[in-house]
Amino acid sequence: MAEIEKVEGYRAGQTFPPSPEFTAQANVRDPHIYDEAAANPEAWWAKRAGELRWTQPWTKICEWNPPHAKWFLGGRLNVADNCLDRHLAGPRRNKAAIIFEGEPGDTRVLTYWDLHREVCKFANVLLSQGVRKGDRVTIYLPMIPEAAIAMLACARIGAVHTVVFGGFSADSLRERIGDSQSKLLITADGGWRRGNVVRLKDAADAAIEGETTIEKVIVYNRMEDPRHVHMEPGRDLWWHRLMEEAGASSEAEPMDSEDPLYILYTSGSTGKPKGILHTTGGYLTGVTATTKDIFDIKEEDVYWCTADVGWVTGHSYVVYGPLANGATVFMYEGAPDWPQRDRFWALIEKYGITILYTAPTAIRAFMKWGTDWPAKHDMSTLRVLGSVGEPINPEAWLWYHRHIGGERCPIVDTWWQTETGAIMITPLPGLSTTKPASASRPFPGIAAEVVDEQGSPLPQGTDQTGILVITRPWPSMLRTLWGDDERYRKVYWSKFEAQGYYFPGDGARRDEDGDYWLLGRVDDIMLVAGHNISTMEVESALVDHPSVAEAAVIGRVHEIKGQAIAAFVTLKEGVTHTSELAGELKSHVAKKIGAISRPDDILFTAELPKTRSGKIMRRLLRDIAEGRALGDTTTLADPSVVASLKEKYSEEG
Ligand code: ATP
Ligand code: MG
Repeated sequence: MAEIEKVEGYRAGQTFPPSPEFTAQANVRDPHIYDEAAANPEAWWAKRAGELRWTQPWTKICEWNPPHAKWFLGGRLNVADNCLDRHLAGPRRNKAAIIFEGEPGDTRVLTYWDLHREVCKFANVLLSQGVRKGDRVTIYLPMIPEAAIAMLACARIGAVHTVVFGGFSADSLRERIGDSQSKLLITADGGWRRGNVVRLKDAADAAIEGETTIEKVIVYNRMEDPRHVHMEPGRDLWWHRLMEEAGASSEAEPMDSEDPLYILYTSGSTGKPKGILHTTGGYLTGVTATTKDIFDIKEEDVYWCTADVGWVTGHSYVVYGPLANGATVFMYEGAPDWPQRDRFWALIEKYGITILYTAPTAIRAFMKWGTDWPAKHDMSTLRVLGSVGEPINPEAWLWYHRHIGGERCPIVDTWWQTETGAIMITPLPGLSTTKPASASRPFPGIAAEVVDEQGSPLPQGTDQTGILVITRPWPSMLRTLWGDDERYRKVYWSKFEAQGYYFPGDGARRDEDGDYWLLGRVDDIMLVAGHNISTMEVESALVDHPSVAEAAVIGRVHEIKGQAIAAFVTLKEGVTHTSELAGELKSHVAKKIGAISRPDDILFTAELPKTRSGKIMRRLLRDIAEGRALGDTTTLADPSVVASLKEKYSEEG
């Protein structure tokens, strides 16, 4: 197991129970919750669904026709009603729903009353532009409150939103509009990123040039004088003009539990993005329950999930989950290193943030920048920390625990996917004794297993790398891939068709205590001289070295061993790369996890290829190492990184 060792101040194999004070106040403190849910998962989920407002009760909890599930059949509810209207009758009416800070420092606060009003008005705008229930609407906005307003307005009238991350190019936007056959596009003239203007409107214009399904474009004016923005007559309309004319009264459409809520394309770490379809009742049940239990949300919290709304984390844990719980959500538009590398810590101090949910890629960048930046700020308001997106290396976990959480905050390492809709494997902060880099256990009501290639369960505590599967349907699961049910069956259900298991594509192990350790993508797991080696474990051993900031490991074809281990390494600031250091790193890995895992090649690089959501794209590194043409690169954040790596590899490799 990738257990901690020798990190200064920590014992090998040290575990981290919650403090008695934390547990005493936690939303979940009775461990029987696991048994209750396991004894009757359907009844358990029905209980959680019952925490929402339904305009018509369901008649059946779950219908499972593998691989298609339906939840809360016959029930009716509206997501926007649950996230907004439901809170207006009581003391939440004047509570901050969204506290926003833009990159240049502009701030806005929307109370639940304000957010409700804006959403109702924008729902009327959508109707006035001919959008009807079931129509698709593409949202291509910066990280501003209008992104949430647009999503909730779609949900209010039953339109299906498809949010495209504002950092995506015109081509990526065109592809997603085409696939979802959207009728309306919502964008802005621009957004801020590291002091630069990202011209969304220009990209939007290019994306719909020529043949397109888009009939109207609504443009939010965030940047300059609107008179300087090109507006296509008859097609482009200003958000603020439409809102001036829109009425404020709006009935939330009572949606069937199984009506679509949104389509969202996956990050594209492993190939061409997939259009994940989520529906209404089950999805909202999943995100509401997990937000409440995993982040321990309380009325007075100021909750910050740093994900962009363009990713599923932004859907489930910036917008729907927290707002359904009546929480105060903090939203920030810009980069963590603008104007300085302490922007996040300054924001935490300024707003008294209590819950922080971010990604390992960000934590590794913070580590690289050093501890002086967080040390400058009072972050004593923080009480829960979360991580999502990739396996977190033990070293990064401990750094987060010590330098951000002040050794006082439980860390929830949450494993889930765009497909799962909600968090699946996670600690519960008041109950779980955590281990750095283990995601703990399946959330109550989720049935997981670690199996071998044949689908037989692997014993707990084995050294063998297994495959994670989900053995029972769950409310927030994807229903299909938009317009491609064949691919849905093939990608997720064909591998263990006989058993009817959902195949997420991730490798895992379970230790003696039953805790899960996620080991990276099954496709990435290496086979070296007959041994399965997880890329994640070699990467963590490298990151454990004091000179290393980040590492990406791949298996490249090797005549004798089957695969050889190639490591791409970025160093901490101020460290120079030498061949001695490369040798030292190889020995370090061999010492930590065994000689068989010793990297064959170490290539130093200033950057690693990542998706726009910050995940390492190992498949491109494999393409480089094996001298192949690169696969789908549309989700790559910075194409120059692979170009220079390719060159470097052919010189040194
Ligand atoms: P694509 O499916 O298009 O290749 P993607 O899998 O990166 O893209 P997402 O749905 O954004 O798209 O990411 C889900 C994946 O992220 C998981 O399958 C897993 O590999 C990884 N992941 C997320 N959270 C964790 C975590 N806490 N620990 C380990 N891995 C995680
Ligand atoms: Mg995936």
